[in-house]
Amino acid sequence: MIDIKKTLKKKELSKGDLIFLLSQYNKDERQLIFEKAREVKKKYVGNKIYLRGLIEYSNNCKKNCLYCGIRYNNKKVKRYVVKDEDVLQCADYAFKNNYASIVLQSGEISNKYFVQKISNLLKEIHQLTDNSLKVTLSCGEQTKETYKRWFEAGAHRYLLRIESSNKNIYNNIHPNDIKHNYEKRIQALQNLKEIGYQVGSGIMIGLPEQSIEDLADDLLFLKNINVDMVGMGPYVEHTDTPLYQKKELLLSKNGRYNLSMIMFALLRIIMKDINIASTTALDAISDFGRIEALNIAANVLMPNLTPTNYIANYNLYNNKPNSLLAYKLTNHIEQYKNRHGCSIAYGEHGNSKHFNLRTQKK
Ligand code: SAH
Ligand code: SF4
Repeated sequence: MIDIKKTLKKKELSKGDLIFLLSQYNKDERQLIFEKAREVKKKYVGNKIYLRGLIEYSNNCKKNCLYCGIRYNNKKVKRYVVKDEDVLQCADYAFKNNYASIVLQSGEISNKYFVQKISNLLKEIHQLTDNSLKVTLSCGEQTKETYKRWFEAGAHRYLLRIESSNKNIYNNIHPNDIKHNYEKRIQALQNLKEIGYQVGSGIMIGLPEQSIEDLADDLLFLKNINVDMVGMGPYVEHTDTPLYQKKELLLSKNGRYNLSMIMFALLRIIMKDINIASTTALDAISDFGRIEALNIAANVLMPNLTPTNYIANYNLYNNKPNSLLAYKLTNHIEQYKNRHGCSIAYGEHGNSKHFNLRTQKK
């Protein structure tokens, strides 16, 4: 106990400190870490929850990440692209319900048609909503020119996870080819930053053969590349993927949940003013996973607005929640807020404070 309190008082946490804190399984000790994270969150970003309406635009993907249910080689997937009018309807819903922000996410496609389509949609969304919605894209690795075009068309934020900062693990969870290259992914993050995006990255927690030490390195990686936002969550196996063969090596769901909560807390402690999303995968391993992450460290929630006729086909992992999410979740949060004194920041963009400070200094 004394050691934990001492460690949590340090200005800077070393890799050794992070490993020590990540290894705490006892309830009381974990509570100390959570309390510290809550304190930091309150002080640096406040107790508000910012909303991003999530639109899972398309499950077409040219890649074959070994963990992902919508990988190219999974022929069981019914592929879709959300119709323009449906995308606009979702944006309109977010606008009218004061979400202030949306996220367009999709499999990785890079042909000219797709690049142009996203540019057009960005422009139409801004026209429809009086330029008032902030738009995050999460459409994988693209050329710097494409990132620039989308930025100019009105995308403000981009989320591209490194998945694991350990190159060996990265190579173990991706095919060994030019489409799935660790250095290229890091370069893409660099390009996004140079263009001026608020840049988000993240990792999966509880991957096969991932150690506590690797997770400490992941936290330090996110700090070193100085991201503005993080979207991270537990790895959840998908039956029709190659990585499913390693399911015997996984921690239990409960184990991955506990590890995730400590990771969220430590991330908040070492990156005080960033935006941290409470991600959907948390709800795939625990009934109130997302709510708990918000209670400890996260400040962004992404209610799923994808129309119900598409949503079941965006099946990245087993047990992905897929119905009435936006409605249920915001209702749930309203109740939760009364218990914990936090509020949903309706109508606020919730730009990353870290981004604001980083760009002011220039
Ligand atoms: N195609 C884009 C964005 C969509 S995938 C990209 O890959 O960047 C979004 C995220 O889903 C990925 O970054 C990955 O971290 C997560 N994901 C995919 N399969 C998963 C799984 N089995 N368990 C947990 N997260 C998964
Ligand atoms: Fe495609 Fe993204 Fe899934 Fe990889 S994680 S297969 S890029 S959708």
